[in-house]
Amino acid sequence: MKECIFCKIISGEIPSYKVYEDRETLAFLDINPVHEGHTLVIPKDHFENIYSIPPETLARLSLTTQKMAIAVKNAVEADGINIIMNNEKDAGQIVFHAHFHVIPRRHNDGLANWPQKPYEAGVASTLQEKIKHTLE
Ligand code: 5GP
Ligand code: ZN
Repeated sequence: MKECIFCKIISGEIPSYKVYEDRETLAFLDINPVHEGHTLVIPKDHFENIYSIPPETLARLSLTTQKMAIAVKNAVEADGINIIMNNEKDAGQIVFHAHFHVIPRRHNDGLANWPQKPYEAGVASTLQEKIKHTLE
């Protein structure tokens, strides 16, 4: 993709701190890390988001993400790692080349996790059916 920042990182047109690559995937440091060591893992072929990545590529991407979670944890002695993927603008996606964030966390680092709340009566079972139905 001509105008994609991450495709330009893959080709070397835009510089980056690459930390791992194989035939299908690349990992490099995020330019604005949540914590030092924050790494992005991408497929070398351009896919916009989780919906369009072919299964084989997603499998390779997952394996590289696991590898990087362990490597980053060891390198920065993280107390934990978040794996996050934003899909579509309203979910916070800014770069439309699919990527996993590997984010090191620190004990009591003050970053809020997602606000959550329990279901109201009956809602979970309705949703259960709705989601299952879309898979048919
Ligand atoms: P998104 O919100 O799309 O999930 O995250 C995109 C990420 O890409 C952001 O965390 C942002 O800091 C990172 N990013 C954007 N442009 C560049 C760049 O040119 N180089 C690198 N290394 N990271 C980038
Ligand atoms: Zn791209």
